[in-house]
Amino acid sequence: MAQQEDVFKKIVSHAKEYGFVFQSSEIYDGLAAVYDYGQNGVELKNNIKRYWWDAMTLLHENIVGIDSAIFMHPTIWKASGHVDAFNDPLIDNRDSKKRYRADVLIEEQLAKYDEKIEKEVAKAAKRFGESFDEALYRQTNPRVCDHVARRDALHERFAKAMNDNDLEELKQIILDEGIVCPISGTKNWTDVRQFNLMFKTEMGSTADGSMTVYLRPETAQGIFVNYLNVQKTGRMRLPFGIAQIGKAFRNEIVARQFIFRMREFEQMEMQFFVRPGEELKWFDQWKQWRLAWHKALGLGDEKYRFHDHDKLAHYANAATDIEFKMPFGFKEVEGVHSRTNFDLSQHEKFSGKNIKYFDPELNESYVPYVIETSIGVDRMFLSVLCSSYEEQALPNGETRVVLHLPEALAPVKCAVMPLVKKDGLPDKAREIVNDLKFDFATHYDEKDSIGKRYRRQDAIGTPFCITVDHQTLEDNTVTLRERDSMEQTRVNVADLHRLIHGRVSLNALLRKLG
Ligand code: ATP
Repeated sequence: MAQQEDVFKKIVSHAKEYGFVFQSSEIYDGLAAVYDYGQNGVELKNNIKRYWWDAMTLLHENIVGIDSAIFMHPTIWKASGHVDAFNDPLIDNRDSKKRYRADVLIEEQLAKYDEKIEKEVAKAAKRFGESFDEALYRQTNPRVCDHVARRDALHERFAKAMNDNDLEELKQIILDEGIVCPISGTKNWTDVRQFNLMFKTEMGSTADGSMTVYLRPETAQGIFVNYLNVQKTGRMRLPFGIAQIGKAFRNEIVARQFIFRMREFEQMEMQFFVRPGEELKWFDQWKQWRLAWHKALGLGDEKYRFHDHDKLAHYANAATDIEFKMPFGFKEVEGVHSRTNFDLSQHEKFSGKNIKYFDPELNESYVPYVIETSIGVDRMFLSVLCSSYEEQALPNGETRVVLHLPEALAPVKCAVMPLVKKDGLPDKAREIVNDLKFDFATHYDEKDSIGKRYRRQDAIGTPFCITVDHQTLEDNTVTLRERDSMEQTRVNVADLHRLIHGRVSLNALLRKLG
């Protein structure tokens, strides 16, 4: 674990050093849990967004996009339940003065039981070797059974407390489990309190009466309140979806782990409107489609898992998270939720407008049910970055830091380098850049030794380096070096476009999704 934390620290500093992510307002000592994307970060982020947007809107003829405003009428947040219920349970440790989410403390305790169980099993597997019957061992070993029983009991108690919103019980669980503050090491806890995560601000001048408005904590409501507009103007028939990418804001209690939990972040959400009664079928379908979208990136199928929710949000009748194996454990990257007709019904009630859909096949009107897929751009960015980072030992004894980014997502697709800064090689290299730049993000680099230039491109995940040498002037060939294998092949300049395009275009990625 400690080793994993080290790796994570290195990734964070790499992200800064190579212009991916900076602390916001850094020259003023930063603003907690707010980050800026640098020159490479913004490209990677845009590519992730493009991949999502195209997978939604190009591959599904019944999904269209919108871009709604961040400010919305405040009654929307009353209707959606966010004013009353968008809370996290917080608890303070009196000795360290540190603040925690009570639910997260308990979830970490649950993970500890899991770790103990897995450790016992791994130990036994080693001891018994070939003859090890894992299933039998899990069922019969007294220590494993004891851990499982404790874990299950805690799980049940926790889920009940969360569903009942029982703050006293949450505190009691923390005390009974002997959970201590990681900083002070004590159990000197305050009571658990609810904390609303929405940011408020004022709109309009105070003289003529200002109005309290919220910075949206999710992009979804902008879709719901435009449901009718899109359905009518786009002549959409159920089932159909509306996709949106945009900023969301949450005053998170504990903001740690870099861009995993931010106070200003970006979401990619799609609401899929379906007939009542068909929602669970579509829920399963969207779970599979979304997992396929993640896996197509090739970051490793074993790094994903579904985690079904114990506590369903006030609006949901089924919900699952797609979790990704970060250096700090499996963590939620995306949620797939069956939100029933809750939001549209609430907006119908609060606005007094009819939001029903007339179904020509059934010849009846109803409020559609909704399946939502909601993914954080920043968490997706983090998962891509973490799984791509490698400190690689090379056969010659040197090491290189390389980002094995999925090629279609890489900020720079190719770098063109004259071997030396003379003999007309820079001109030839520029000529190649001027041809490729219309299709690919292309860098020109002539500084330092060729080895150093390759390392710089490896560090930002550039899939291809093209080197122009004296032979190029004679026969119009260059060397094409691949980032991952470091193999170099001699190719004709005329073939560069085709070779690179075949590897780095989003098209190839999208085709995997059908
Ligand atoms: P968590 O339990 O981690 O707080 P959540 O369940 O509240 O997340 P959702 O409301 O389902 O998250 O939001 C959908 C997605 O938005 C999440 O899967 C995540 O990728 C992203 N997201 C939510 N909160 C944040 C945040 N504070 N910083 C970055 N991304 C976030």
